Amino acid sequence: DKVAVRRALLSVSDKSGLVDFARQLATHGVELVSTGGTARALRDTGLDVKDISELTDFPEMMDGRVKTLHPKVHGGLLGVRGNAEHEAAMAAHDIAPIDLVCVNLYPFSETVARGADRDEIIENIDIGGPSMVRSAAKNHAAVTIVTDPADYALVAAELDEQGGATSLAMRRRLAAKAYAATAAYDSAISSWFAFSDQGEAFPETMTVAMSRSSELRYGENPHQAAAVYTPMGPHAAGVAQAEQVQGKELSYNNLNDADGALDLISEFRGEAPTIAIIKHANPCGVATDETVEAAYRAALACDPVSAFGGIIAANRPLDGAAAEAITGIFTEVVIAPDADADAREIFAKKKNLRLLLTGELPDAARTGLLLKTIAGGMLLQSRDNALVDGGAGASGSDLNIVTKRAPTDAERADMMFAWRVAKHVKSNAVIYAKGGSTAAIGAGQMSRLDSARIAASKARDAAEAAGWDAPRTQGSAVASDAFFPFADGLVACAEAGATSVIQPGGSVRDEEVIAAADERGLAMAFTGMRHFRH
Ligand code: 5GP
Repeated sequence: DKVAVRRALLSVSDKSGLVDFARQLATHGVELVSTGGTARALRDTGLDVKDISELTDFPEMMDGRVKTLHPKVHGGLLGVRGNAEHEAAMAAHDIAPIDLVCVNLYPFSETVARGADRDEIIENIDIGGPSMVRSAAKNHAAVTIVTDPADYALVAAELDEQGGATSLAMRRRLAAKAYAATAAYDSAISSWFAFSDQGEAFPETMTVAMSRSSELRYGENPHQAAAVYTPMGPHAAGVAQAEQVQGKELSYNNLNDADGALDLISEFRGEAPTIAIIKHANPCGVATDETVEAAYRAALACDPVSAFGGIIAANRPLDGAAAEAITGIFTEVVIAPDADADAREIFAKKKNLRLLLTGELPDAARTGLLLKTIAGGMLLQSRDNALVDGGAGASGSDLNIVTKRAPTDAERADMMFAWRVAKHVKSNAVIYAKGGSTAAIGAGQMSRLDSARIAASKARDAAEAAGWDAPRTQGSAVASDAFFPFADGLVACAEAGATSVIQPGGSVRDEEVIAAADERGLAMAFTGMRHFRH
């Protein structure tokens, strides 16, 4: 099963390690054949190389689209050695056997990653390379296929040991690796069409290669197994790419909650300091203030009981004052664009606290796909990247004021704040906000009325615990992620002290709901947009 290597075809985009490898091949008397750029790189170092066009008797053409796609190449790769018919065909058509192929492909993913335009991306879909890789790998009984520069040394060592030949075991291993490489390459292209080049419709079929980036101790519960996978092709960065600076190993629930936290806080990218405290993927306090520390304290005041063991997300780098405040209670994870030296020192004292740094936050308006598995299949939808423009004055906004009274500027600001938070709260979501801070959050109830009431009751508890005169729902704005199906939910909000409401509208009973708001002097805006989150 030893096969002597007499002719090698080298055609690589990533030229690292190439010259050394070619030189080692040459010492075993191997004839080197190469494509344009590769041949030049080798010739520059004085190696003797034959151009592929000499072998094919055909020029490289069409901007390199057609270089090696020729029967003289593929016949030389695929012809079964020792098969009389194949050998006769090779002889008849002057096809020389090729015993070793060294190929790596056009940098498709890298081209996507650096934000190249569509034409350039398409041009970086390698055609001839994968064809050669697949031909050579199929005929691994006789041909050695090398796709990874990390394998050059191994192959060279075997050539030395075996007197210029390779073993079947090695060829088989390299063939398996070669098909993994072309599969990953094509799935990166497939993912790009599906995720990045998303047109009107979802693709009918797609393949997304995922690689395991870490194993987790367990899943949502200790008796469940779990691991993290990331796409091998180009993809947007998120929690899975955040740098963990310190703390215990991240758990499945940490990652899931941190994902929700990052999604919410990205909504406030580039704005005044804002903090979100997340529990079980729902916020239990969100606030904007003059400093990160002040924002944290305001967010914490919304529901200090639930915040225990929470996940903190910040839209700004953390400083010492913020870190000091955050470490005042037990916190599982902190996620932020960055943390200064003071903050890091303070966090370091909390050995278990996991600190995740993301660099610049993702753009909340970015497109993308969300995937959810269901038994027997999966659901795919575009991200909820829609933003409602609250406008500064009455004009130029997406808000449709439906009540007799229009909201004041302060009410409008609170309405918009509550609305932006509501998008990130499990349905049914009812959020009360006042002065740039959530006052109460009702999440995940099966009736909207329950969400409105539970939030109000939590605000009363918080006021009692803090010794405030009144719960912070007094004079607040309320956001509802979907329309009020009946007036009762809105009435509950009004009874809790809300003076303005923002909601999509669109219920058959909108008239009843508007009348209930007018009766109580509330200002209400319809957005025409729903933010269900199930
Ligand atoms: P070079 O730098 O040698 O000019 O080009 C090397 C690259 O060309 C390799 O990445 C190889 O996979 C790719 N390649 C080789 N043959 C063909 C072909 O016929 N068509 C296309 N599109 N790419 C090829």
